[in-house]
Amino acid sequence: MPSEVRIRFAPSPTGALHVGGARTALFNWLFTRKNHGKFLLRIEDTDVKRSTRASLEQILDSLQWLGLQWDEGPFFQSERKAHYEEAIGQLLHTGNAYKCFCSPKRLNELRARAKAMSAPFIYDRMCATLSDAEVQRREAQGERCTIRFHVPLSGETIFDDVIFGPVRVENKLIGDFVIARSDGLATYNLCAVVDDNLMSISHVIRGEDHLSNTSKQILLYHALRYPVPKFVHLPLILEPDKAPLSKRHGATDVLQLREEGFLPEAVVNFLALLGWAYNGATEVFSLDELISKFSLKAVSKAAAVFDATKLLWMNGLYMRSLPQKVVIDRAKAFMAGAGYDIPQYDSKWLDGIITLEIERSKTLKELAAHLEFFLSDQLRYDETAVEKFLLREESQEIIGHVRNRLASLEQFDIKTLEQALRSLAEELNLKFGQVVHPTRVALTGSSASPGIFDVITNLGQSRVVARLDSALELIRQRRQP
Ligand code: GLU
Repeated sequence: MPSEVRIRFAPSPTGALHVGGARTALFNWLFTRKNHGKFLLRIEDTDVKRSTRASLEQILDSLQWLGLQWDEGPFFQSERKAHYEEAIGQLLHTGNAYKCFCSPKRLNELRARAKAMSAPFIYDRMCATLSDAEVQRREAQGERCTIRFHVPLSGETIFDDVIFGPVRVENKLIGDFVIARSDGLATYNLCAVVDDNLMSISHVIRGEDHLSNTSKQILLYHALRYPVPKFVHLPLILEPDKAPLSKRHGATDVLQLREEGFLPEAVVNFLALLGWAYNGATEVFSLDELISKFSLKAVSKAAAVFDATKLLWMNGLYMRSLPQKVVIDRAKAFMAGAGYDIPQYDSKWLDGIITLEIERSKTLKELAAHLEFFLSDQLRYDETAVEKFLLREESQEIIGHVRNRLASLEQFDIKTLEQALRSLAEELNLKFGQVVHPTRVALTGSSASPGIFDVITNLGQSRVVARLDSALELIRQRRQP
């Protein structure tokens, strides 16, 4: 076993990078960084039909967004065919593999028979005993064949998984598996083993769904006389109701999370807790803390639960705890991506209103939505707020007074405004809140907003007066019988 820690993440570009893949990438990355190793990116694109350029780009983009930079690669399996052919040649030569001419029709029949008996499909090895002459004759006739690995008929294949412990599989249950398809292309198990060996991978860290492939791969390691790396299978990720993770409860692809306005720091922290725990109490970790505290020993084999509510909570936490300047820049970039023409706004003013809204926004998307009333004069009134605060008996009069008072001010700073509204409330014999609530709905369309004086100063006098006029108009219209 190589003493250097060399780790790979090996996605297939057949879809976007989802939460499960991202968690695998993160655990690989953290383990590498903690052990001062090398992190390799290998693209498993041998399935030509299902691999796409778009998926590849999404995967690279997702990894970069999460900050999981690789040290070597990306290596593309589609460019490494000669290595696989060489290994297959070696396996044929040593009698560890054989050519199989069974037609898809015959194999389907075998599968159907196994299914009818509720037994797993295990190839019946019909071609394992073909003579060399027979093989040559059939090839000469142009018959197509796959290549199967010769699994020993007896004994067990055993490996010690770092998380799952000893795993033993009876060889007779493995079945002679295909290592090259009839079009000549090597299959996943063969390519993974050849590459993990050539790339001197020390630890194979991947999802639990690959556990059943590992016994096959161990057999290949032995037959090819390669040193066997350590195997680490990460627990499944389930929904809170223990169903397999799906999109039912929201975004599960990394780039969708970005579109939903999540911060990569929060997503990384959240992903780290999917199977790993530090002391059971601390849940918030910076990337540096994760690197220093992460350990495979603390990864559980029990399935992890993807709790979308917790992700949202954690993102809110990061919105408030990252340096304000960082969140402001992210918010602007997010908004530009969502189609806002950022340069049209005065940048200090924009920074100011973003700062005001950070506190009550859990995501950048929510933040952008909260800024809407500052940016656009087409107010979207919240109906409940309108009913509660604008359509009350006294609201028309109060808003009328506020409008006139604010329109008459020569200065529009917080101190002057506060004095003006407080004395107005006194004159009208009202509590301050009775003046503020309808004013807030008139200015923002909603009953929740940053502090009223921050709202007023940032809108500016003319927009404030215009909005109070519009609210009065709305009240008049709605009051008409
Ligand atoms: N290409 C495989 C996948 O995306 C990776 C398996 C492995 O890590 O060996 O699931």
